Amino acid sequence: MAVISIDRVSRLFDDAQRGNSVIALDEVSIEVARNDFLCLLGPSGCGKSTLLNMIAGFDHPSKGVVSVGGRAIAKPGADRGVVFQQANLMPWLPVWENVAFHLQMTGVKKAERRERAQRFIEMVGLRGFENHFPSELSGGMNQRVGIARALLMNPAVILMDEPFGALDEQTKMDMHGELVRIWRESGSTIVFVTHGIDEALSLGTHVAVMSARPGRIRELMAIDLDRPRDPTSRQFNDYKRHVLHLLRPEDAKERMGAVKLKAA
Ligand code: ADP
Repeated sequence: MAVISIDRVSRLFDDAQRGNSVIALDEVSIEVARNDFLCLLGPSGCGKSTLLNMIAGFDHPSKGVVSVGGRAIAKPGADRGVVFQQANLMPWLPVWENVAFHLQMTGVKKAERRERAQRFIEMVGLRGFENHFPSELSGGMNQRVGIARALLMNPAVILMDEPFGALDEQTKMDMHGELVRIWRESGSTIVFVTHGIDEALSLGTHVAVMSARPGRIRELMAIDLDRPRDPTSRQFNDYKRHVLHLLRPEDAKERMGAVKLKAA
């Protein structure tokens, strides 16, 4: 059975200024199985975050149903861990207390919090930094803290909204390797929002290519590439070419066709 099921979901937003509504998502259906790593890929404004927010329970469909573990989503829950572009850490708390933050909210004692945080601190490669404060860490390290915090709740799914968007290219590539290792080790199911084609193809077991206005799934691709993935390989670039073709707006395709005809 699918862990996440998105069944004919549409989302309209009222545009009060123009007196009309924006169709952010139009009849989107998609199923995510246990241990899948699904990347939602598409241009800015195609509804990726809206879809992720509905799985998280921060937003709700205008039509259709989003369910996790067979239950329709009504609100955020501990079965879904969320990692945003900014790690949103508490600057006054050391790494381990940030990782264990949710446990403090539920009244777990300090010694147990410390012990439970350690496993995930090690999983994200931050051993030795337990007592550092967020301001003493790099952007990539802070994102690792955010990932450890999400993992600690042992969620059924981890939802990530451009978590490496603010990182430089080299750090981003390092984080991709780390995230794939963490995903394998934790056996989690991940939905990852990105507008980067290389990022989606480097990470996903599946890539859902979306189109903008209205947001729809153009194609759900299973990515059959060995790991670690080599973005310079022929197979990788075959996928990339196909994705670029899917992302190219229809009118641009027609224009290109016209240019070709003229040149012939
Ligand atoms: P993406 O994550 O792909 O960049 P979003 O999901 O943020 O796209 O947005 C999809 C569309 O919905 C955009 O046109 C955006 O302007 C609109 N939208 C998103 N959230 C709201 C909102 N709260 N109110 C009005 N329009 C919104």
